[in-house]
Amino acid sequence: MNATLAMQTLTPRTTEPALETLPGDDVRQIMWRFADRYDLAMIVQAARGVARGPVARLVAAGGRNTHEWTPEKASILNDFEAAGLSAVYFDPAQGGLIEGPKNLALSLIAFELAWVDAGAATSSLAGYLGLAPIHERGNAEQRDRYLRPCPPEQSGTTSTPWRAAFALTEPIPFVGVDTGVLGGKVRIAEWKEGEEPVLEIDKRGRFITNMAVANLVTAAVDSDDPRFKGSCMVILEETDPGTFDRGVPTRKMVHQLSSTRDPAFRLKIPAWRIVGGYRIEDGVIVPNYSHSEVIEAVFRRTRVAVGLMTSAKLLSAVEPIIRYQRSRFRGGEAGQPGSLRHELGLQMKQDVVQRLVDIWATGEASASLGFAAARLSDELEPLEKRKDRAFEELKLEGVRIKSKALAATYPGAIEFVSLASKSPEDRDQSRYEYLLKDDLTQFVIADSLASVLCSACKLWNTGQGANMMREAVSLMGGYGITEDCPGFLGNKWIDSQLEATYEGPEAVQRRQLALTMTNPVFISQFKQWAIDLRKQAGTHPGIGACTLATAMEMWLWTLDHLHTTRDANGHKLYQSNRQGVTFPLADVLCWILAARHFIVDVLELESQGPSQPTVAPGLPGLMQFMSDIAHVQSTRAAGEVGRICAELVFGYNRHPSWTPETCEACYNAEELDVMEGIIAGIAGCAHGVSDVIDEEGNHPQKEGPCVRFGGVERFVSLRTKLDGCLTGSRLAKDRAAESLTKVVIPEALDYPV
Ligand SMILES: Cc1cc2nc3c(=O)[nH]c(=O)nc-3n(C[C@H](O)[C@H](O)[C@H](O)COP(=O)(O)OP(=O)(O)OC[C@H]3O[C@@H](n4cnc5c(N)ncnc54)[C@H](O)[C@@H]3O)c2cc1C
Repeated sequence: MNATLAMQTLTPRTTEPALETLPGDDVRQIMWRFADRYDLAMIVQAARGVARGPVARLVAAGGRNTHEWTPEKASILNDFEAAGLSAVYFDPAQGGLIEGPKNLALSLIAFELAWVDAGAATSSLAGYLGLAPIHERGNAEQRDRYLRPCPPEQSGTTSTPWRAAFALTEPIPFVGVDTGVLGGKVRIAEWKEGEEPVLEIDKRGRFITNMAVANLVTAAVDSDDPRFKGSCMVILEETDPGTFDRGVPTRKMVHQLSSTRDPAFRLKIPAWRIVGGYRIEDGVIVPNYSHSEVIEAVFRRTRVAVGLMTSAKLLSAVEPIIRYQRSRFRGGEAGQPGSLRHELGLQMKQDVVQRLVDIWATGEASASLGFAAARLSDELEPLEKRKDRAFEELKLEGVRIKSKALAATYPGAIEFVSLASKSPEDRDQSRYEYLLKDDLTQFVIADSLASVLCSACKLWNTGQGANMMREAVSLMGGYGITEDCPGFLGNKWIDSQLEATYEGPEAVQRRQLALTMTNPVFISQFKQWAIDLRKQAGTHPGIGACTLATAMEMWLWTLDHLHTTRDANGHKLYQSNRQGVTFPLADVLCWILAARHFIVDVLELESQGPSQPTVAPGLPGLMQFMSDIAHVQSTRAAGEVGRICAELVFGYNRHPSWTPETCEACYNAEELDVMEGIIAGIAGCAHGVSDVIDEEGNHPQKEGPCVRFGGVERFVSLRTKLDGCLTGSRLAKDRAAESLTKVVIPEALDYPV
């Protein structure tokens, strides 16, 4: 008996085309938009070779069983270098591989490495993170010295390459989530007339990645000297005079293929090592960038790759789980070849395949969100440079003045979003072209979106991803929590928690979203997406687009309501320190964004797939499956939106109690009897559903009269509509689950386990 036959017992047979094989590189290149980038395809192959070769062998050999940094772990760094992965960060002029922005390239590397082991991915990323302050805010001299694979005097030789670490976090009670207060200090050690000042740096770090190997550290410090103003980041080299103590290894239980230590630095460095340089004002050294300005620029890019690590793990879990499910009962007496048990194993049970659908859908949605954020970061980079040039030409200086100038472009940016949604015939084309060429307008549009997408990807991909990794582990039963679990799923589960924590844990992302998601330029784009989704639902019913559009309407209504309403105690609801309001609203926005980007990627697959000879033949089945799981994901997102928004809209009101005022709207039993004479049946209805006070003045046994919906009628109607929008979603899930029982998978994983 084959798998198809067996599923007839579970769900009605469908005639739709079915998924034939798991999506390959050709499909991913279309969905994540690098089909025309040969350089990126090569980088993916190089990263995969390292991940599924030496990294997988090291994990399979037990390399994760200790937090100590071993020679075997160190050799992985050599593999990165040999495969060219370490050079990706640099421009070709400095010995790198890719011209222009590299966020998508780095994200693809992180994704490939994390497919096998996120610790290896972190080792590779941490090097870039250590250099990122220089990349984002360094001056020409610093970029020239450090943004190349090896120290300048060693370039072209086989000497030690730059290996960098990023030191922000400090031992308790200093920097963690709140990065504003620094324990690390900078003082002026020596300042001879007409010469470069020498600084003394005193910094202790906690949980600093790459510390076993770093020969270069970018560290955040604050002034401890009246001749030095504010905070900054500085570049430390291991050969600087003083103490460069790598510290003890962190006894971590995660990401064991990366090195994490608590270092201590007491070093003398020349002042030119201040990231971004400095100026002297009235005899005081003033850094051009505070440490906060540097880390803001750094994290908004690097966090995306971290989010994508968790996506990779979810998608990597699909194949081992299917294989486990199918082979679960093979070998027993009742599981002879040809029997249902032999062919389908656990997949005879509907729940296990439906849960796998949820895992796959989450992986797809988070990857779509992450890669969209990575591409946007690439688009933003040149715009940011043009914006800076425009500011220079306008002679605008100071954070507040610049912010004001950007805010002044908001109306034009919002207008552009609207114009861009229309065809050239239906819009003022000259105005459109004018705004298209305006650097500040274009920057503001991309920046408002990137600020939201980056935090959303870090928050949702890792947080919800960790929850779903637990599901993945649970589908492997006891095997899931052993070292032998194929695909290293147990390791991947616990590793996800680190991805949710480092580079700013969830609270940091929620705080950031609470600020950025209310930007009117972002909101205008979000509204346009909802309109587009309705149109897409018209052409692509069953993909979940209409469901999501209604959820977006509800989110927008709730955001507006929370801005204009007070709680039962008269306190404002939407305000920065009211995390109980802002954080859940940020969370549900992430669900929406992930589902929306997934739908957009599925539509891209449909439009580009037919022209790809390797994709076209299986496209109908693939499209049916992807549309179904996009529907599943949109439905789940809509459910979250409904649940959280309802809590926020009603949860801050006080429930009415049995007071004369609240009972004004209650029925009186006697009146009801009179009315029964006029409208037959009303008494029965009212007794069943309403608040009726009897002859003795007794009320029903419950908390109070039921809540009335005055002022929130629109919300109530949206909520009813949203429930209706879930129509068909379980049929989609049934179909997707059925596909998982038929899809052909390779005989074995393509890496050692
Ligand atoms: C393996 C590993 C590697 C790391 N690598 C590096 C590195 O290379 N460089 C580096 O600088 N750091 C690194 N870190 C540090 C990491 O970035 C921090 O651990 C992380 O930012 C959280 O800070 P914390 O541990 O001090 O947590 P805390 O700040 O103590 O937070 C604890 C909890 O309280 C919540 N919380 C804290 N403040 C708020 C708030 N204001 N509002 C709401 N909730 C809040 C947090 O969300 C969290 O749930 C690493 C950490 C680990 C474990």
